[in-house]
Amino acid sequence: MFVDSHAHIDGHEFDADREEVIQRAHAAGVSTILNVGTGDPHSGAFERAVQFGAKYSNVYTAIGTHPHDASKYDQAAEDKIKTLLQSGVRIVAWGEIGLDFHYDNSPRDLQMEAFRRQLRSARELDLPVIIHTREAENETTTILRDEYGDARRKGVFHCFSGTSDLAARALELGFMISFSGIVTFKKADDLRETARLVPLDRLLIETDCPYLAPVPYRGKRNEPAYVVEVAKCLAKLHGIEVQEIAVRSTQNFARLFGVSIASIGS
Ligand SMILES: [Zn+2]
Ligand SMILES: [Zn+2]
Repeated sequence: MFVDSHAHIDGHEFDADREEVIQRAHAAGVSTILNVGTGDPHSGAFERAVQFGAKYSNVYTAIGTHPHDASKYDQAAEDKIKTLLQSGVRIVAWGEIGLDFHYDNSPRDLQMEAFRRQLRSARELDLPVIIHTREAENETTTILRDEYGDARRKGVFHCFSGTSDLAARALELGFMISFSGIVTFKKADDLRETARLVPLDRLLIETDCPYLAPVPYRGKRNEPAYVVEVAKCLAKLHGIEVQEIAVRSTQNFARLFGVSIASIGS
């Protein structure tokens, strides 16, 4: 049994065949999906994600203002996220939040402010966080240390594509590290080397679909069933059976997000 610990399946990319996508995931052994609601906090995107997740017993939900939308994060957004997080079912994390200095879709100072505010709020609610970080390694770990250093619940660096130094700092801060299809890409030798060094009790797997489909589906729309390819790649790197990656990453997911996944008895 696998868990896709980070997917975006409530969006329009899956409007035509969402049921089939979920069925294909089950058929592939992907028993559980964490759907992450993103977008303009005032657009109804978070309400949509929460409503979608409530319909499926094996779909968990996270919501948070992505760094791309940081310029739209305000008091009303914060109040809305807090209310939704506390009122919905199977809502397990605040995220994805963080810094993206690659695209710079929002000004950097606003990204950093929205990141800090959301970390403080997540801490207040005692929720784990899902971190998105790109080309902002030092700023990300500095802010996490300031705002989250002594938080009881930690979180995950999702879709990890950073340096081995960032991985070491994330682990030191008590976070898990989640790998996506990027780790299967031909040119990702450095990332594979980093993945090999992440201890099995800190490892998660994800698709981040609809983007970043793993080899051999690269270039196609990604979907949760393909997380098995990420697990196969990590199994090879760690020199173990794919089944062990499935069990360990599922246990890690259950522990981090405080849920019980019956099939592994954790
Ligand atoms: Zn992300
Ligand atoms: Zn994402």
